[in-house]
Amino acid sequence: MPVQKTKALVLGYHPLGEADKIISFLTKDFGYIRAVGKGARRIKNKLCGRLEIMTYGDLVFYERTDKDLHIINTFDIIEHFQELRENLTKIAYCSYLAELIQQIETPGVQNTEIFNLLLNIMVMMRGQDDPELLARIFELRLLASAGLSPKLDSCVLCTSYITPGNSESLSVKGVTGLRFSVADGGILCCDCGNNFSQQKNRTQTIGAVITISRGTLELMKRLQNAPLELLARLKMLDSSRAEIRRITRNFISYHMDRGKFRSLDFLESIEKDDLETIKQV
Ligand SMILES: [Zn+2]
Repeated sequence: MPVQKTKALVLGYHPLGEADKIISFLTKDFGYIRAVGKGARRIKNKLCGRLEIMTYGDLVFYERTDKDLHIINTFDIIEHFQELRENLTKIAYCSYLAELIQQIETPGVQNTEIFNLLLNIMVMMRGQDDPELLARIFELRLLASAGLSPKLDSCVLCTSYITPGNSESLSVKGVTGLRFSVADGGILCCDCGNNFSQQKNRTQTIGAVITISRGTLELMKRLQNAPLELLARLKMLDSSRAEIRRITRNFISYHMDRGKFRSLDFLESIEKDDLETIKQV
């Protein structure tokens, strides 16, 4: 078995037998991998206490090329990111992102861009009081990296380019604004959105059509593409926050038919509390 060394972030673990753990990592050089930590459940084991979610370190492992489970030799911590685990909302978003990565990334396939993005997002999240903003950035860019990006520049049905001018001129005439078609994977112009919403059967059978404001659309484009340092201090309006949550949640569950996300129920209960707190304030 060849010995490999790489930088890695812990995505999660579960018990194996009486004393071992299977740990999932996102690594810099090997992408998403899973590896057995022999004896990792024993208190005196060198891995004990080092495998909390989003812990960043140097991973040395024995690569089993014919199997998808490798064997950990050592994992030396570079950064604990303890602050993330002391905040309920932050840890909930970290758990969600870890689960999303494991659903989307192909095991053993290097994706340095996504590894670096996750590491940067974790560094930013330590001092950020809006972890949802950072989670949405990562979520949209992970989807794009997997070829599952929501299409936001032109109408997914008639291909007409969506500009501020044409959406405003149509709304002046009393036509409802833009919509996002979950099933078609992107934005609908005003005309197509109106036609679509009148076809009730189609709406019900193919998937949700969600109203999206011009401001939210522009925000989503920035979350997809703008440099991270320009987004760190961005303030999301509550209305945009709710629209993007609804769109991404529906989009992911529709286009990724790979089982349910365990972290989402917990996250949803936190988000609901957040929105109720905002309304009360
Ligand atoms: Zn159209």
